[in-house]
Amino acid sequence: MRLGLTTEGSAGIGSVKDYLIELEDVLISSHAPLYLPEYKEFTSIRLNYASTDDDFRIVSKNYVLAHIESASKYKNLKQVNMHPSPKYWKHTDKHTDDVSISEGDYNKLIDTIREISSFAEARGIEIVLENNAIHWPDGTVNPSWEKVDVNSFDEWSFGSSPEEWIRICEDVDRVNVKLCLDSSHACTYALGMKDEDKEKEVMKYVSRPDLLRHVHWNDNYLYDDRGMNDSHAALNQGTLPTELHRVIKYLDATLLLEHFYGLETLEEELQFIDSL
Ligand SMILES: [Zn+2]
Ligand SMILES: [Zn+2]
Repeated sequence: MRLGLTTEGSAGIGSVKDYLIELEDVLISSHAPLYLPEYKEFTSIRLNYASTDDDFRIVSKNYVLAHIESASKYKNLKQVNMHPSPKYWKHTDKHTDDVSISEGDYNKLIDTIREISSFAEARGIEIVLENNAIHWPDGTVNPSWEKVDVNSFDEWSFGSSPEEWIRICEDVDRVNVKLCLDSSHACTYALGMKDEDKEKEVMKYVSRPDLLRHVHWNDNYLYDDRGMNDSHAALNQGTLPTELHRVIKYLDATLLLEHFYGLETLEEELQFIDSL
């Protein structure tokens, strides 16, 4: 069935060469990998191109570059979406229970994104940096930034708060590096604010529309604990402010409904977008 829409490919832990060739016409963006299939004794490890460990940083960067190289072979693919790397990430190997901590450094993050951007620019690719979700510790209820101890998080990435995410793009300062807003991820962060501040917090993510070139457009639940999860709900089925959706609709950006709950729900979402 043809809907006249385009789409994004997701790399998972692999490379884009597995994308279906019949999707070539509609494939306009690609999601860079988040995990390395293996590194030393670890399986499926979160890649970290900001790592303070030189070897791991280079291996991670090269994995992203290989993705960009293969993505650039698709004729209509002009954007590669990429998450800012972890600041802190605790891995427990599923087989051996070994634990390792991956730490990232802000200056290394900026330098590596610049290197990646030069590689991408030579291939006609724009990099869009996606704001990261908060992974609230298991058992958290009524999350609050005032009460939580940030050291209790096992996973924390750069570019989760709106201020830091925007600053990364400004500090990288390259013409082909812009931002991808994931509105579901934004909700996981804003959930730690007081109820009366939550709407203002999510609206900060669209405070620099000039930098926003891509959107992972999802709904989520801003006023209850379901919003701690990266719900990727259908538009208008969660409680993100209508004003946020309205701003997103009129951005000069490619808009991706990053979920699929069947054609009936998609029709409702398209009607909702029409109403904005
Ligand atoms: Zn993503
Ligand atoms: Zn996303």
